Amino acid sequence: MKTTMMEVPLSLNHLLERAGRLFAGNEIVSRLPDKSLRRHSYGEFYRRTRSLASALQKLGLRKGQRVATLCWNHHAHLEAYFGIPAAGGVMHTLNLRLSPDEIGWIAGHAQDRFLLVDDVLLPLYRQFAALHRFERVIVVPFSGQPVAEGFEDYEALLADADPDGFDYVPHDENDAVAMCYTSGTTGRPKGVAYSHRSTVLHTLVASLGDFWGLRGTDVVLPVTPMFHANSWGMPYGAVMMGVKMVFPGPHLHPDDLLDLMQQEPPTLALGVPTIWMALIQAYEASLAKDSPNHGRWQLPRGMRSLVGGAAVPEALIRAFDKHGIWILQGWGMTETSPVCTISYPRAELRGADLDERYRRAAMAGVPVPLVDLRVQGDDGGDQPWDGKSVGEIQVRGPFITGCYHEVPVEADKFTGDGWLRTGDVASVDPLGFVRITDRTKDLIKSGGEWISSVDLENAIMAHPGIAEAAVIAVPDEKWGERPLACAVKKPNHAVTVEDLQAHLLKSGFAKWQLPDRYEWLEAVPRTSTGKFWKLKLRERFAR
Ligand code: ADP
Repeated sequence: MKTTMMEVPLSLNHLLERAGRLFAGNEIVSRLPDKSLRRHSYGEFYRRTRSLASALQKLGLRKGQRVATLCWNHHAHLEAYFGIPAAGGVMHTLNLRLSPDEIGWIAGHAQDRFLLVDDVLLPLYRQFAALHRFERVIVVPFSGQPVAEGFEDYEALLADADPDGFDYVPHDENDAVAMCYTSGTTGRPKGVAYSHRSTVLHTLVASLGDFWGLRGTDVVLPVTPMFHANSWGMPYGAVMMGVKMVFPGPHLHPDDLLDLMQQEPPTLALGVPTIWMALIQAYEASLAKDSPNHGRWQLPRGMRSLVGGAAVPEALIRAFDKHGIWILQGWGMTETSPVCTISYPRAELRGADLDERYRRAAMAGVPVPLVDLRVQGDDGGDQPWDGKSVGEIQVRGPFITGCYHEVPVEADKFTGDGWLRTGDVASVDPLGFVRITDRTKDLIKSGGEWISSVDLENAIMAHPGIAEAAVIAVPDEKWGERPLACAVKKPNHAVTVEDLQAHLLKSGFAKWQLPDRYEWLEAVPRTSTGKFWKLKLRERFAR
């Protein structure tokens, strides 16, 4: 006999049904390769998604099997987010910025059965097609061109399917719905599988007022790729609340994003810091009277912006705030669904001055509900939350992965008592604000003392003449390691090394913490997810 509540499994299918019933009139907008906009209603999304699920079943997809996607951010990718799990399958998002060899290896390792690919990405597909054979390759005619011979046509499959006759595949709440591989900056990429349960819980938590604060009247622009940690889970939240989505398609150049913001002003946008840096620079350059873009753009005042995936420099937060846009920083990983902490204005900070609010916004933030977080020192003991003691962040919770796909549990990834070792080094202050100082592999140890590469980078980027900066450790005979700064100047700014050293001293760094060497670059190399790629810099400069 039951003594408490009903045992109804948490399910993405519920979110889809709800969207079809309640939000049929709301809009989903996608930017196509030719830059025109395609508009869908949630009603169409609902029917098309059920048609996709029905078509996949007819093609023989069985429970737990993987369907890969190789797609930009757009309406059909959103349909895959819900349609593949509705058919009992697992959506595996392939990262189109990886090398063809890596993509092929990952698809093979995940044993992906079918592939859903944008027609404009077929040239990329052909480069890894020999490494893994998909039973079916379904092409989304994203550009509007007819689908080439030998491939399934996504639109034709949907047109032939019967959305009304489709029945959801029964599932347990712990069954997998999606899968994403880590970027593998240190070793082979590893697969993380998300379940109905973890996804619904993550969606509910991340949507809370102090975090995403999703409202039915929101217009969300996800610049974060849908192949990177599920665009931080935003597509699930958007469908749960039926909010209008504006997908940028393949057009991620700052000018394109600013154009899109004029056409479809967002109330909430999300992306990694590097993209946001490029965006604010393009915008500020357009304010000059002699700019060819003068008067072309107006940033949507009052827009909220979620930025994370890498440290968010305080200078970036200040720059956006000048134009009425507040940045909420989040920290997380592919392994953590990904939201673990968010920096938001706490009640205790009501009286804080603006400088203090910026300082807090530049931290990784406070752990969200359902995430247990601890910081372990070198001796294996928990560090006090005193804002000073540093150690490795370890996390535990219902939307944090407990394993990797077909990889034995490794001691360097999980602790004996079952916490995920994140490899991020941080301190936590008494209010629970996490401040990330480094990744374990990016730490600089000079003469037995740690120097934070993140602190140095942020301070260098706060110099008005600097566009980008990344700091790495280079081996040093006397000190073990010393910091080397790679920096990019803003156009028409003649910054010198002496300027930067003086600026760092003024920002509070001790003399021994200053970089010994500066390299001036055209741009800092980016990883497949748009973050600064320190590994490449180490290969180039730290030999
Ligand atoms: P990868 O960076 O290897 O592609 P993920 O996308 O999962 O993999 O990134 C997770 C990592 O990104 C974290 O472990 C952390 O090092 C970094 N990161 C994410 N958010 C932040 C943040 N707000 N501040 C600093 N580092 C961050």
